[in-house]
Amino acid sequence: IQEELIRGEKMKIVGDMAASVAHEIRNPLTTVRGFIQLLATVPLTETKKAEYKNLCLEELNRAERIISDYLSLAKPDPEQIETIDLNEELDYLSNVLLTYANYNDIQIRVHASRESGLTATGDRSKFRQALVNIGKNAIEAMENGGTLELRTDKRSDGPAIVVSDSGVGMTAEQIKRLGTPYYSTKTKGTGLGTMVSFSIIKKMNGRIRIKSDVGRGTEFAIVFPERSWSEERQSG
Ligand code: ADP
Ligand code: MG
Repeated sequence: IQEELIRGEKMKIVGDMAASVAHEIRNPLTTVRGFIQLLATVPLTETKKAEYKNLCLEELNRAERIISDYLSLAKPDPEQIETIDLNEELDYLSNVLLTYANYNDIQIRVHASRESGLTATGDRSKFRQALVNIGKNAIEAMENGGTLELRTDKRSDGPAIVVSDSGVGMTAEQIKRLGTPYYSTKTKGTGLGTMVSFSIIKKMNGRIRIKSDVGRGTEFAIVFPERSWSEERQSG
């Protein structure tokens, strides 16, 4: 199954997201406040107390996940557009994901292409958020361990960074739903990660190509426009 995922309508939604994300964060906070009030005012058994404390922690974790999946879009500071070396980002990504991968019994294989012109243009910290969201999903798709492959590649249509996993895979229907706010198949999912990633990469004029086989794994290829010779010369 192969799909190309840049859809205007989905991306427009992002603009209206802030209010809805604020709402999603307010819910767990309200719940936590309720439990803390209970703990403070009502006599409770030790078992009940422990239960409420756990619920508080779970709710706070949920709020944290929403914020971190959504972080860079909500960030107000102006974008810093620069030339980004894809091999440097490959390095960054493998370092950031290492602990999470180890924890989940997953091996990371990194392959940096030696081709020239492996660059993209955009805001580096936003691009990193997009990569981390995609990488985290790849790891979460491998519940029983597996291999995460990270590589750069010079494709016929441009420089690419590719994240592939040997995880659960997706059906064509599931691939279509990617990037839709709050679409998640995970009990603790936010359904914000791919939405955020897609909108960041779209802004960089990149494309996301997804190949997936149910039960075998998924490949996310982020392909950027080939830069012209004069552009390369301008930025060295
Ligand atoms: P979340 O990770 O919180 O569920 P995301 O927006 O990051 O939200 O991802 C949405 C859904 O897309 C996931 O719940 C999962 O079903 C699917 N998905 C994303 N990446 C992969 C992948 N590499 N393999 C399998 N499914 C994936
Ligand atoms: Mg995710």
